[in-house]
Amino acid sequence: MNDDVDVVAWAAGGEGLITIMDVCGEMRSNEGRRYGLSKSKITAFEQCARKLWLSKHRPELALMDSGTEDRFATGHEVGDLACSLLPSGVMVEAEPDLAAAVTRTRELIDSGWSEPIFEATFEHDGVLVRVDVLSPTPDGWAMAEVKSSAGVKAYHLGDLATQIWVASNAGLQVSSACIRHINSDFRLKREGDYKGLFRDTDCLGELTDRIADRATVVADARAVLAGDEPEVSTGDHCSTPFACEFSSHCTRIDPPAPEWPISLLPRTGKSIAAQCAEEGLFDLHDVPEGRLSNALHERVREATVSGRIYHDRKGVIEATKGWLWPRAYLDFETIGPAIPRWVDSKPFQQIPFQFSCHSESEAGQVSHTGFLSIDGSDPRRACAEALLEALNGDRCGSIIAYNASFEKRCVLELAEIFPDLALALTEVAAK
Ligand code: SF4
Repeated sequence: MNDDVDVVAWAAGGEGLITIMDVCGEMRSNEGRRYGLSKSKITAFEQCARKLWLSKHRPELALMDSGTEDRFATGHEVGDLACSLLPSGVMVEAEPDLAAAVTRTRELIDSGWSEPIFEATFEHDGVLVRVDVLSPTPDGWAMAEVKSSAGVKAYHLGDLATQIWVASNAGLQVSSACIRHINSDFRLKREGDYKGLFRDTDCLGELTDRIADRATVVADARAVLAGDEPEVSTGDHCSTPFACEFSSHCTRIDPPAPEWPISLLPRTGKSIAAQCAEEGLFDLHDVPEGRLSNALHERVREATVSGRIYHDRKGVIEATKGWLWPRAYLDFETIGPAIPRWVDSKPFQQIPFQFSCHSESEAGQVSHTGFLSIDGSDPRRACAEALLEALNGDRCGSIIAYNASFEKRCVLELAEIFPDLALALTEVAAK
């Protein structure tokens, strides 16, 4: 898992807005329907006008993959944790509806409430936002948008600008506004003690232009909603900042994807693919001999076009002749939760819960050992011990991994937390 999510966007929801807009009596204008918007809808619009339109008019076409669901689950978990670190805070519930949340927020602020407010709800010009955390300051209210990423991303700024624009216009004195993101230097020292997990990056100063353009963005988004499905082609924007849930709908009339996309070329494949696309070349099969200047790329192209497997036998023998026997082929599987689950781990730290190790003797005999922990407990001690056993103590000559620096880092992190195994694990990492 390596992406972040707005912890309240889906809670605010699109349809809830209908309720509040109806309550506010602003759902219709003389020109026709005036669409209520939420922060998440505006974020969708800023990614793609068609995405906004589909999310409103054809939501049944959305296909959530498990990655999106995981992102949402992490967002909920991070949001709950951020609230739990402020025990004196009060949650504004959207009960019975969002109009009640707006009223409750106003009551709290007008009453001189002096503690944090979670999901404070504001409405302006038919746009409704729920602010993750609002904290009183001597000169107003500090706004915090909680994100499950390790830093501020470009789209966060749009989110925050929308919140400030709505809340300010609804009468809130905003004294500061930050993205409250995960502090990647945090290390869990005591079970359940997450003080210090978050870091605030103040953004108010750099949002002036974005706040000023919100009225235009909102008007543009409404114009899209009032029209027909916009004609927007698929492209890089379909996966940035989020994988779009309407991808299967939009790609159904696209020409078939290339069998061997040029972007598969190693290292600079994406930029070469972009250059080739301008020349009308999309599949490696169509790239003419001599078009690629890099020898490795040309070799990949030639093997793809001819269907002949490239095997540099001599080169392999030369490259591996110094590798000692027996050889172990190692591959870790890891998890890297945003919220560290186990003592002595950090946010997003890659924790190995599985490995596969094939051992090959000089005589050519191959054996396999594996490890898998799925009971939810900290897998690291058992993994470290199983690894040392699989590598047959110090009798393993070389360790080969597809991404050696990653596997090495996993082993060294195990060495760091188990002093009694540190020597053996450090030697493993050095092989
Ligand atoms: S798949 Fe791409 S083009 Fe289609 S709605 Fe999503 S972002 Fe827009």
